[in-house]
Amino acid sequence: MPREFDPWSVVDVEDYGKLIEVFGIEPLTEDLLKELPFLNRYFARKIVFGHRDFQIIIKAIKNNEEYAVMSGIKPSGIFHLGSKMTAEQIIYLQKLSPKAKVFYAIADIEAWEDNGIPFEVSINYAIENVADLIALGIDLKRTYIYLQSREPHVMRYGYFFARGITYNLLEAIYGEKHLGMYMSAMVQVGDILLPQHPDFGGPKPTVVPVGADQDPHIRLTRDLAKKYARRHGFIPPAAVYHKLQWSLKGPGFKMSKRDPMGYITLKDPPSEVRRKLMNAYTGGRETAELQKKLGGEPEKCAIYQLAMYHIDDEAKVRRIYEECKQGLRLCGECKREVTELFIKWLIKHQEKREKNLSKAEEIIHEALSRG
Ligand code: SF4
Repeated sequence: MPREFDPWSVVDVEDYGKLIEVFGIEPLTEDLLKELPFLNRYFARKIVFGHRDFQIIIKAIKNNEEYAVMSGIKPSGIFHLGSKMTAEQIIYLQKLSPKAKVFYAIADIEAWEDNGIPFEVSINYAIENVADLIALGIDLKRTYIYLQSREPHVMRYGYFFARGITYNLLEAIYGEKHLGMYMSAMVQVGDILLPQHPDFGGPKPTVVPVGADQDPHIRLTRDLAKKYARRHGFIPPAAVYHKLQWSLKGPGFKMSKRDPMGYITLKDPPSEVRRKLMNAYTGGRETAELQKKLGGEPEKCAIYQLAMYHIDDEAKVRRIYEECKQGLRLCGECKREVTELFIKWLIKHQEKREKNLSKAEEIIHEALSRG
């Protein structure tokens, strides 16, 4: 299995075309998109750029058959825009069919292994994260939320699959890590295959919406699913891949919980969001004169990327792009416009997340009582 990056330390994916050419991710073609009942912002704007076996999900939708959407969150902080993107993908894939069921892992084992966050602390983040997920629109009636450390099946699967893996293979995929990280990777294989466990109805098509940096986990899981297909009947999980949103510092920096000025959380007060966005990297030219003459470079601009990834109004986003390219807008006014549009959405979202905190607490306490 060739290695392109490890999902715990990747900074940026420079060339999405390379993932398609070298690692076998298939491009998401127009023909495939036409098969979907409707598109969300990420699919329509090609932010979701590739897939593995997504046809099995399209087939399940058309035949009105059951399928699973598998994803989760590492509870190491409040949702930021990257976590929002994954959550919105999950919700979209759930909305595509009444037969879709979401499995949502709270990766508390990974939070401990990767970030050293004790379980009793990550629980608090888990409650906040689930409140965001509900506020974004997940259908709780068709969602199973669990804690990795309290779901015995994922840990048993982790141990079971460990027999099919050598240390050298893990090192080739993830680089040299401490043992806990490798164990956490095995638990994630358990997460992805959990929807196919007999206690959850057995083998079924499953799709995992992920950032491009998570492909090593997907390839490892698919290989193991194939290896143990005869014994367990696993269907190799499908995946859809989205481009990573950069840090507000611009291209080359990953939006990460480790760099507070580079990202926005869904709990940030509007004044903080304004401060961060007014300091964000843009694709503007050195002077206003040059900007008017040459136009800006929205492709390199964190403000334009925010609009592209998070503002629904298609006409407005298109206008920002055109006016920028033609030198008809300057960065100061543009930042203000995009910031206020985003804050308008954020304020409404924060009201909803606040209302859902007690429901989220209930869900996490129920998850804690398992295992
Ligand atoms: Fe970015 Fe707007 Fe400046 Fe263009 S005008 S580079 S989109 S901030």
